[in-house]
Amino acid sequence: MLVCKFGGTSMADASSISQVVSIINANPKRKIVVVSAPGKLKDQDKVTDMLINCYKTAKEGSCKDIFEKVKARYQSIIDDLKIDIDLSQEFENIRKEIDSGAGYDYAASRGEYLMAMILAKYMGFVFLDAKDIIKFTQDGVFESELTNDLTKAALDPIAEKGVVVPGFYGSKPDGSICVFSRGGSDITGAILARAVNAELYENWTDVNGFMMCDPRIVKNPKSISSLTYKELRELSYMGAGVLHPEAIFPVRFADISINIRNTFEPDNPGTMIVPSKEYRKNGRIVTGIAGKKNFTVINIEKSMMNSELGFARRALSVLEEHKISIEHMPTGIDTLGLVIENSNINGKIDSVVAGLKAALNPDHIEVFDDLALIATVGHGMIQRKGTAAKLFSALYNADINVRMIDQGSSELNIIIGVDNKDFEKSIEAIYHAFVE
Ligand code: ASP
Repeated sequence: MLVCKFGGTSMADASSISQVVSIINANPKRKIVVVSAPGKLKDQDKVTDMLINCYKTAKEGSCKDIFEKVKARYQSIIDDLKIDIDLSQEFENIRKEIDSGAGYDYAASRGEYLMAMILAKYMGFVFLDAKDIIKFTQDGVFESELTNDLTKAALDPIAEKGVVVPGFYGSKPDGSICVFSRGGSDITGAILARAVNAELYENWTDVNGFMMCDPRIVKNPKSISSLTYKELRELSYMGAGVLHPEAIFPVRFADISINIRNTFEPDNPGTMIVPSKEYRKNGRIVTGIAGKKNFTVINIEKSMMNSELGFARRALSVLEEHKISIEHMPTGIDTLGLVIENSNINGKIDSVVAGLKAALNPDHIEVFDDLALIATVGHGMIQRKGTAAKLFSALYNADINVRMIDQGSSELNIIIGVDNKDFEKSIEAIYHAFVE
C-alpha cells in the first residue's frame, strides 16, 4: 500500500485536482491520501492564510466577508468538478465557530478538513477526520505512540476502500483542534505511512524533488535522484521548502522511503529519500550543498580552557538560561566558538555575553554577527581522500576567506562558515568543484 500526500498547489483548483485524481487512479495501491488546503492561485491567497485572516478579523468583529471568499473557493471546485456534495451547513458551522472565538488552530485547520471531505466524495473514498487519530497533549506536544495505535486501528478495517485524511491537524484531550507548524500536512502523511507500514510514502508537490543546490544561486543544478535521511537532515537548510523537516521522523523510524514527486510532471521519478542502509551509490562524492545566512559566532578565548573541568557545560548553561539553542560549537585548544542563528538571539546578545563573562572568566570574548554557514554533504565523502582538499582549493581559487570549519564525526558533511557577502560565491565554487 502507498500513502500519498498532495500539497496545496496540487489542490488549488479543479484542474489540478483532476490531475491528482488521475494520479491516484493510475495505481491501485494508492489507497491512503492526505491533502493540504487549496494553495495559492494567481489572484488568490492560500486558503490556510485566508482562514488565519478570518481568525484575526473575528477577534475584531466578524470574519463574514473573508469567509465568503473561502466558501467561494471551495464552491468553484465543487461546481467545476460537478461533485454532488452540499457543504452549506459545514460552512455555516465553521464561520460561527470562528466568530465565536474557536481560536487559531481551529480556523487554520478547516482548509484541510473541507478539502478532504470534497476529495473523498469525488473519489468515492472514506473521509477519516484527523482529529480522531492524531493526538497532542493538552500543552500541544505531539503524542506519537498513541497516534500510531489509533491510526492503525482506524485505518486497518477501511484502508482497502480508499481513505482521504485531512493533513496538518489533530486534537487535544479536551477535543480542541491542534495544528502542526506550517506545512505540517507532510507530517500527517508520514504518520499514516508508518501506521499502515506503507511500501512507500509519496509526497506529491510542485517540483521534481531536490536539486544539488539552490537554483537561484547556481543555474540549472543537477537534480538529486536519491539521498538518505541522514543526508537530508544535514541538508535541512535546503529541504525546508520541499518537505517539512519533521516529516521524516515517523517514516525513518519504520524504514519507509519517501518519494518526492511532481503532480504536474507525474512521469518524472522525483527524489527518493531512503534509509542509510539503502544508500545507492550515484557516482558522486557530494550529494548536495546547502546553507543559510545570518548566524552569530561568539568566540571565547581562555588559556588552558582545555583542562578546565566543566568549561563547555557552563558556557552552554548560559545559553540555556537565555533559551537559546546552538547550531555548532567549533573548538580549539584555548578557544570555544558558539554559533547561533541571529533570529534565536533576539536582542539578548549583551546579556548573553555578560553571562558568559561571569560564568567563565575568559581572557577575551568576541562577537561576529554576519556569518553564513554552508554544508557540503554526501555519503560518497566517507573514507574518500581529497574531498576537503578539493573543497578548500575551490574556495581559495574563488578568493573566499573561510572563517569556520566543522566536519561532523560521521564524515558525512563538511560545514564551513564564511562572511554573509561570500555566501552565494562559495556555493557556486563548491558546486563547480564537484560537478562537471
Ligand atoms: N495548509 C497548511 C499550510 O499552509 C499545511 C500544509 O499545507 O501542509 O501551512
